Amino acid sequence: MSDTAMKGRSIKGVARPSKDFGDGRTCIQDGCITKLSRYNKRDHCYLHAPVKYPRVRGRILPEGT
Ligand SMILES: [Zn+2]
Repeated sequence: MSDTAMKGRSIKGVARPSKDFGDGRTCIQDGCITKLSRYNKRDHCYLHAPVKYPRVRGRILPEGT
């Protein structure tokens, strides 16, 4: 019997430097002073962020019914 050495998997991960979008940014919405994270690439706060997916209540009916 040959024992196989259990080598710990070394994760080859490329350390991704966190993107910095600038410090002290605020929501561009007029009148909004919500500060944005410097790592947030958006220009709006979470309240004013444009909604891509509208909330749909209930079931989503297939089109062309
Ligand atoms: Zn805002």
